[in-house]
Amino acid sequence: MSRPVSLHLLRTLRPVTTRHLSTTTSPTPTPKRIKNLLVANRGEIALRVHRTATKLGTTTTTLYTDPDAHAEHALVSSHSINIGPPSAYLDIEKIVKVAKERGCDAIHPGYGFLSENATFARRCTEEGILFVGPPPSAIDSMGNKSLSKDIMISAGVPCIPGYHGTNQDPAYLLSEAEKIGFPVLIKAVKGGGGKGMRIARQNEEFLAMLESAKTEARNSFGDEVVLVEKYITTPRHIEVQVFADSHGNCVALGERDCSIQRRHQKILEESPAPHLDEAIRQDIWKKARDAALAVGYRGAGTVEFIFDNDTGEFFFMEMNTRLQVEHPVTEMVTETDLVHWQLIVAEDGKLPLTQEQVEKQMNGHAIEARIYAENPDMNFIPDSGPLLHLRTSTPSETVRIDAGFKQGSIISSHYDPMIAKLIVKAPTRELALQKLVAALEDYEVVGMSTNIEFLKRCAAHPAFISGEVETGFIEKHRDELFERRQTPGEVYAQAALGLVMNQSLESVSGDPFSYFAAGNGGIQTRKVSLVEKYKEEETQISVDIARTGNGIFDITVTTPNGTETYPSVAAEYSPSSPKDITSFYPHTRLETRFIRTDDKVTLFQQGVQYTLHIQRPKWFEKALGVKSMENSVCAPMPCKVLKVLVKEGQEVVKDEPLVVIESMKMETTIRSPKVGKVARVVHGEGDICKAGTELVEFEVVGEA
Ligand code: ADP
Ligand code: ADP
Ligand code: MG
Repeated sequence: MSRPVSLHLLRTLRPVTTRHLSTTTSPTPTPKRIKNLLVANRGEIALRVHRTATKLGTTTTTLYTDPDAHAEHALVSSHSINIGPPSAYLDIEKIVKVAKERGCDAIHPGYGFLSENATFARRCTEEGILFVGPPPSAIDSMGNKSLSKDIMISAGVPCIPGYHGTNQDPAYLLSEAEKIGFPVLIKAVKGGGGKGMRIARQNEEFLAMLESAKTEARNSFGDEVVLVEKYITTPRHIEVQVFADSHGNCVALGERDCSIQRRHQKILEESPAPHLDEAIRQDIWKKARDAALAVGYRGAGTVEFIFDNDTGEFFFMEMNTRLQVEHPVTEMVTETDLVHWQLIVAEDGKLPLTQEQVEKQMNGHAIEARIYAENPDMNFIPDSGPLLHLRTSTPSETVRIDAGFKQGSIISSHYDPMIAKLIVKAPTRELALQKLVAALEDYEVVGMSTNIEFLKRCAAHPAFISGEVETGFIEKHRDELFERRQTPGEVYAQAALGLVMNQSLESVSGDPFSYFAAGNGGIQTRKVSLVEKYKEEETQISVDIARTGNGIFDITVTTPNGTETYPSVAAEYSPSSPKDITSFYPHTRLETRFIRTDDKVTLFQQGVQYTLHIQRPKWFEKALGVKSMENSVCAPMPCKVLKVLVKEGQEVVKDEPLVVIESMKMETTIRSPKVGKVARVVHGEGDICKAGTELVEFEVVGEA
């Protein structure tokens, strides 16, 4: 079936409306051994599946799209097929065709994309290809939040009180909301990935929230049916990993707490869930197995529950009929390979372990941190770009890094901005947290904004350390988590040292930082001007460096807060050693990683990342002929222009919406920074723009 899909759908595509009429008898697959597996996904999950398949001696075929031609998943397999445009990972017919041409006997859909698409699962079966996933009927039942609630209620699984019927009349839904009692949550029944969901805190805002949930649902899932349920104010997200085979076995592989979320999406996940009463834990596992059995489940699935911190009650939220992003935490504590289990079940084999064996094998505590290309200080707006520099701690038995990218890879704005997953394990939660922070401190990414600093703050927050988790954690601790950090003066000094000592710069003609080139022995001084940005704010820093001897410098740092002087600093610059700059200050030794990219320097020092901008002297800008962008509005990130809201010649006021752009499935409205008149609309609807591209140019007619 072909159906136009927007890029919005790439991440969140859920099964489309396909009622399974029992006119076709689904053939029972005969036990067989998968010899050639098509990995129908990208990034880390494609590499993850490839890794297990290869270990088992199974050949893999991977797919890639035009923007992914040089991506890691396209390089690992000796057979990798180009399927074309960015959205082709959703192209059922093309993928099935590739599988047949390549003689693949099975398809692993990974997560996202087609993993929960019942039509795709059916097409595979029709073509005699094993779909590594649950029966299509189970995908259908669970892909609809309203239908799944019905099934769960009959199976005795507790559900959140609410209305999930067919009457979609706004007035009727409002009366149901009143019955439930505010606040309520409005959810698209076909929703996923946190989309199509709105909280209505009181009566008055219900209809507006309903409209907005429906619009988002229509745009993302092509369906606007919603349900209304009680909004739990201090909930935890606890989910259970279940596995079932075709021989009637079904086990729960422990639970995961995924309460630390931003925009309803998880960023920290752990197993076991902290402070969970043992009786409740056993009960939640049992309910998860009941849920899976109620839909005749097979393969890997996750039953998500919302746990009410106030009452200790838990309710079924939804079942994800695939392997999840956070499955590694379960693999770490249960010492299993869940992709291997998926292949065994697909081959009609029996689950490798019984419930009892799983529990006996479970040990320790595992935590996963999702590393995203995004800017937490700007409301977690996604970012993209080339991974100019990437360094991590060395993976081991207890530190696992699942990544789809290497240094030099490009994080494309076409897809999900997740760069990698960092998973650690230790005997206790406390030790696991220490290990997580240490591994995050070793994680160096340059080329785009990331959430690494934010993750460090979450992981080191006293409330997180004591296991006081809830889905509103980030909101609740906003002040501490987003508190602006003071940059130590030595960071600016190290940055300036890096700039003046970086010998390779000498070859860059005209670079104003190629200092001290001719070592004539006399005292030479240079001034380095740096800018530190925080949100919209810019701080000017000036560093004066005087070379008083070979590798000896007197450094003076001037910031708006005052001046600091560091006399006789012995500094060494050697990019080949573990850190680039080693300096002996009067009071301490400092080791710094120093990465310069164009007009930016990124430093990693004592576990913290700092980004500074180089302010080139005015003559340098002039020499380069850089166009002044003072009267222009530029794209804040790589994006696609969705809508242009103004015309040339039109007068605009400050904050008036100019252009709507889309980047990483998120829409952003670009507003006018001042009063003015539109002189030129540089990019039209549908244009793809790089970060910094001029979008609208205007003449200033008044003061801002
Ligand atoms: P999960 O439920 O596995 O934790 P999320 O809730 O964060 O995942 O994601 C919601 C949807 O987006 C899911 O359908 C998931 O499969 C998909 N998704 C998440 N991360 C990615 C990614 N990096 N690439 C592709 N799809 C993703
Ligand atoms: P999706 O399919 O988008 O993942 P879910 O139904 O799983 O949607 O909900 C996503 C997140 O929204 C949950 O992890 C939880 O944080 C929050 N949430 C969902 N239902 C409720 C509720 N009734 N009350 C409070 N928070 C909820
Ligand atoms: Mg969910």
